[in-house]
Parts: sequence; structure tokens; C-alpha cells
Amino acid sequence: MKMGLCSFCLKSGMLCPKCLAKVKSGEISELDLKIARLLMSLEEKYPSLQNLYFHKAIDADGTLAIVVGPGDVPRLLGYGGKIVRAIGDETGKNIRVLEYGVDDRKFLEDLFAPISIMTINTIWLPDGSMETRVILRRRRVTHPSLDVKALKEIASRVRKITLRVEFAD
Ligand SMILES: [Zn+2]
Repeated sequence: MKMGLCSFCLKSGMLCPKCLAKVKSGEISELDLKIARLLMSLEEKYPSLQNLYFHKAIDADGTLAIVVGPGDVPRLLGYGGKIVRAIGDETGKNIRVLEYGVDDRKFLEDLFAPISIMTINTIWLPDGSMETRVILRRRRVTHPSLDVKALKEIASRVRKITLRVEFAD
């Protein structure tokens, strides 16, 4: 696994001055460190993680979003979902895997998966601010793990998108 820390710090668990500065400035959070070490510990069992680029982790209520490099989502979702389950068990959170650098539509599709998105549009409010309205297909079965409030918070923190979520009838 790779990330914004040098490989020495990642492996040793200590922080050189350069990496320490990134942690102190908040560029890398304590949560990022925790999730990075968890991913490292899973590498031996799941070798696809060796080439994974980990950007950051965001915790919103019971949902943990893991942002990975372009094209890296399958590396984390592979093995029949065993890696994601292992992370979920270890952290006690519902895990969402998101890709860095994608457009808004792809970001939102990953955020709400497996529920499919029917429509995305932009709403301008009278005060000049903007909201992104997402209309999801009515869920046939309920997804207890899909916490809309948490997903809105993740969208806001990862992409600075203010979401309005609706379900189609
Ligand atoms: Zn370092």
C-alpha cells in the first residue's frame, strides 16, 4: 500500500520529520494512520493491497469512507468483499470505497452503490448557493447500511458537495 507517508514511516510506525509535519498540519489525520496500518496488516493475506494508493479515510457516524487512487477500487473490493468485511469488522463501521479524481457522477455512484442513481442535477438556491440533487431508484429491499445522513456528510467533506437526496416513486 502507498500513501502520502514515506514507506519507512509506513512500515516502522514511527514518523520522520517530513511525515510528522504532514500529520501535524492535518494533511494526514490520525484516522488515516489507523486505516493505513490496518490496510498494511492485511497486505500479506490480500496481495492486491500492495499496489493500492490510499488517499484518506473519512468517518461520518457509523460509516467510514476510504478514498483510494484512480483505478484502485477493485483492489479493495476484490476477494469477494473479504477485505472490506475485514475492515468493517475491525473498525465497527460500514465501509464505502471511493475513488480519487473521478467526476461527480462516478463519485456519487460509488457513494450510493448498490442503489442506482436515476438523475443528478444542480439546484441553485435563492442565496446563490448550490445543491446537488440526487434521485435514487426506490429501494426494493432496505439497505440498513446505507445511512443517507452519513453519506451526505461524506460528500460534503470529500468533494464539498451539498447533497439533496430523494427517492423516485
Ligand atoms: Zn517519513
